[in-house]
Amino acid sequence: MKASQFFVSTYKEAPADAEVISHKLMVRAGMIRRLNAGIYSYMPMGLRVIQKVQAIVREEMNQAGAVELTMPVVQPGELWQETGRFDKMGPELLRVQDRHGRDFVIQPTSEEVVTDIARSELRSYKQLPKNLYQIQTKFRDERRPRFGLMRGREFIMKDAYSFDKDKDSAQISYQTMRQAYRNIFDRFGLRYRAVAADSGAIGGDLSEEFQVIASTGEDAIVYCPQSEYAANIEKAEALAPGQPRPAASQPLVKTPTPGQSTCAQVAEGLSIALATTVKSLVLATDVQDEQGNITGSTVWLLLVRGDHDMNEVKVGKIAGLDKGYRFASEAEILEHFGAKPGYLGPVGLRKPLKIVADRDVAVMADWVCGANEVDFHYTGVNWGRDLPEPDVVADIRNVVAGDLSPDGQGTLEIERGIEVGHVFYLGTKYSAAMNATFLAENGRPTLFEMGCYGIGITRLPAAAIEQNHDERGIIWPDAIAPFTLVLCPIGMDRSPAVREAAEKLHDALLAKGVDVILDDRGERPGAMFADWELIGIPHRLVISDRGLKENQLEYQHRTQTEAVKVAADDVLAFLA
Ligand code: ATP
Ligand code: MG
Ligand code: MG
Ligand code: MG
Repeated sequence: MKASQFFVSTYKEAPADAEVISHKLMVRAGMIRRLNAGIYSYMPMGLRVIQKVQAIVREEMNQAGAVELTMPVVQPGELWQETGRFDKMGPELLRVQDRHGRDFVIQPTSEEVVTDIARSELRSYKQLPKNLYQIQTKFRDERRPRFGLMRGREFIMKDAYSFDKDKDSAQISYQTMRQAYRNIFDRFGLRYRAVAADSGAIGGDLSEEFQVIASTGEDAIVYCPQSEYAANIEKAEALAPGQPRPAASQPLVKTPTPGQSTCAQVAEGLSIALATTVKSLVLATDVQDEQGNITGSTVWLLLVRGDHDMNEVKVGKIAGLDKGYRFASEAEILEHFGAKPGYLGPVGLRKPLKIVADRDVAVMADWVCGANEVDFHYTGVNWGRDLPEPDVVADIRNVVAGDLSPDGQGTLEIERGIEVGHVFYLGTKYSAAMNATFLAENGRPTLFEMGCYGIGITRLPAAAIEQNHDERGIIWPDAIAPFTLVLCPIGMDRSPAVREAAEKLHDALLAKGVDVILDDRGERPGAMFADWELIGIPHRLVISDRGLKENQLEYQHRTQTEAVKVAADDVLAFLA
């Protein structure tokens, strides 16, 4: 490929709405272009990355015995009524009507359509097991699309669906996919962790997420360095002892029972908030002097996973104190509380935030406790009226670093991750809802046992960048770089020798199957190098008159700061 024919467009500045490095760098490197919130064009440079991701996924899926098909993006609402998801999915599901006023949805995933295919096409147990997959556009009207391709509204997903004749066979299909996912994520060259996830109503352990480790990840994952234990925070919490969490559908605004202690109120307010999508939490405990007089309150701030918007944390306002704290960024909060970067709630910060002067205590009736969000509060909490119980935080079900691992093998660590894949055993959830059966060996119509398996194709490059970048730009792993090697000729316009050598090398490398781009745009060396470093091409060869005189080229890997000389005649062998 020649850069003059290709589409190279780089920017010095990142867009104002870009919060995380992958978003900034993908826009600056000309890989994506925003059209609307969470909706991007995949520009030629970015598309090459996406296509490489797709190729790896496709290869491993085929290898694992899955079969590719493509299902429609626009799907009839009736089918979605059959499973109840047309209504249940809420505002994330984009519904549209055609000219006849009939309902359609834009696929967020495709269980309904694939189950419809199975119920008419897979008639006998002899056709099972089958695993059908597609690599296709999805739409989810995310509450908060952000971080570029990481949480888009329109994005590309690989979604696979397995159909089996019974549970045992379904377990094998699940394990096959699990292994395929390991093979896939190994090939990307990223640090990742497979973690147990909640399998919802079905129970059991057959749901795992594949999380790329990154401090900017929206998910918290818990693992034990001394053993194999790894889970996402929801799953880890589900195992942790403590009161059962109220379901998120329960009323979220409550008033405390008379006579209930402050700590019990706080604990309940917190557990309500934790069961919901919250931005931040505030709780308070009373402070007593030696005689048992209440002299103030300790306010605790808890940051919670999910869509927290740190600009909105105004502790004083929520707690009803006139003196509060305002934080401009999450980093500022972490610094203020001395928390480690990478720290993530609902663990909470076990550090007192503020002691209130005693004269305030008298007016501390009717506090709000819970999430920093309307309708997610526990109201009417009366501080200073009841004697506090010790150890409030221990009442609240959560998991923190240093806790004993559930397998007893060591202590837990917590880190952040980006969910790039998810494997899930579905049982007969969809086949039962849609009456999807096949004829079993005994001649009876039998419900399919199903599994579903997703990979965020367009999220993956963003996750890769979060993990691999420096101040100069992206550092792609070879497997998904837009080009593996860039040839940078110096003074190609002036020097026929450089031009000839560069073109010859370009053609020879292409013939060898090397994914090479020749920068023949005539840029000055500084600008040329800066572009390719920003774009993140892992390997670079510089061709110059000076070098050619000694019959040498200069090679530099993107992670290196110095070039090494390579004899021009050996360059093909050197790159091999
Ligand atoms: P999340 O927890 O991040 O919202 P999810 O659990 O809703 O993701 P799944 O339904 O499991 O997502 O979809 C399979 C995969 O699709 C995810 O593992 C993720 O990699 C990808 N994905 C989901 N939502 C988005 C999105 N809004 N933008 C980009 N990729 C996404
Ligand atoms: Mg989601
Ligand atoms: Mg998820
Ligand atoms: Mg998921």
